[in-house]
Amino acid sequence: MRIGILGGGQLGRMLALAGYPLGLHFRFLDPAPDAPAGQVGELVVGAYDDPEALGSLVESVDLVTYEFENVPAGAVEWLTGRVPAYPPPRALETAQDRLSEKRLFEACGIPVPAYAPVSSEDELEHALASIGLPALLKTRRLGYDGKGQARIMDGSMASAAWRQLGGVPCLLERLVPFDREVSVLAARSRDGSTTVYPIVENEHREGILFCSRAPARNERRHLQEMAEAYARRVLDALDYVGMLAIEFFVVDDQLLANEMAPRVHNSGHWTIEGAETSQFEQHLRAILGLPLGEVNLRGYTGMVNLLGSLPPLEALLRVPGAHVHIYGKAPRPRRKLGHVTVLAASAEERERRLAQLFEVIERAGEPAPRA
Ligand code: AMP
Repeated sequence: MRIGILGGGQLGRMLALAGYPLGLHFRFLDPAPDAPAGQVGELVVGAYDDPEALGSLVESVDLVTYEFENVPAGAVEWLTGRVPAYPPPRALETAQDRLSEKRLFEACGIPVPAYAPVSSEDELEHALASIGLPALLKTRRLGYDGKGQARIMDGSMASAAWRQLGGVPCLLERLVPFDREVSVLAARSRDGSTTVYPIVENEHREGILFCSRAPARNERRHLQEMAEAYARRVLDALDYVGMLAIEFFVVDDQLLANEMAPRVHNSGHWTIEGAETSQFEQHLRAILGLPLGEVNLRGYTGMVNLLGSLPPLEALLRVPGAHVHIYGKAPRPRRKLGHVTVLAASAEERERRLAQLFEVIERAGEPAPRA
């Protein structure tokens, strides 16, 4: 089987690395000639909406998937007319627009932070009056890793926030005083069978994921059950096929959905070593209509992103239980260059190993939060 992947970043690269033992082949499309997936598979260099590049991607592949969700709708339409594509385009379109995403959550009975769509400075004034302060203005489209967002702490900041985001259609959200952030990773196969991984606790730094712990600290059975129920509702509503991630805020022991990703997700990288089946293999199993794998844990894992610069490999490998993944990308401030997962036999051992890892990262010049 040959699989075409839109996007040639680290997610595509890890999909291929998970697929080779299953005898699969991969071809990627990415506008960047140095896309990291090109080091492990055939890379077609071209724009996502260039018919020639798309044609060259689908030529001789059996199905197509995405590791990047901001693929232009026209490109997806073009593709689905020629070759099976999973997850379904509707999931992609929904995730591309924060307003459609919120409406889908609401239609599934999933609570979300108070929000209002905003398409002019006047509407922003009205929205602020109804939502209250502090609030967060987010562009409806193309926001990621904290980009396309502006905090509004008092009314005098509204106009500047509107201008900072370029006057494009936005969503105003109440800034939620969350206790912590968690995500749920779920897979649905072509026959409708689903699996849900244990919830993950996520720490962000400047809007970028820095550290994930699975299972979450102080696991709460009811949060897991709620997250599972919500994930299944979204999967069924979209007649979904593949891996899906939903990010939540935990507020007063309740979950408020923030956003979803119709693909493998950074908060699921720990599954490579920490779960019976990795999210990458699970995604491939789902889109190929193969039996889904077990999702039970192999221990306590902590995953830390290597952002901006790489500490010496030797220092990383000295941390007990460390599994290092370097993506083959050129260093750039805040860029995700790799990740390290520590696997431990207990929650306490995980914290000790994470503390050692944070120290290595700090020594290399990247400030890290305390364990
Ligand atoms: P997003 O791009 O929506 O994932 O936002 C990136 C990060 O900003 C989140 O992981 C949170 O840490 C923070 N954030 C986003 N929306 C809110 C909100 N409504 N209230 C509080 N923090 C938020």
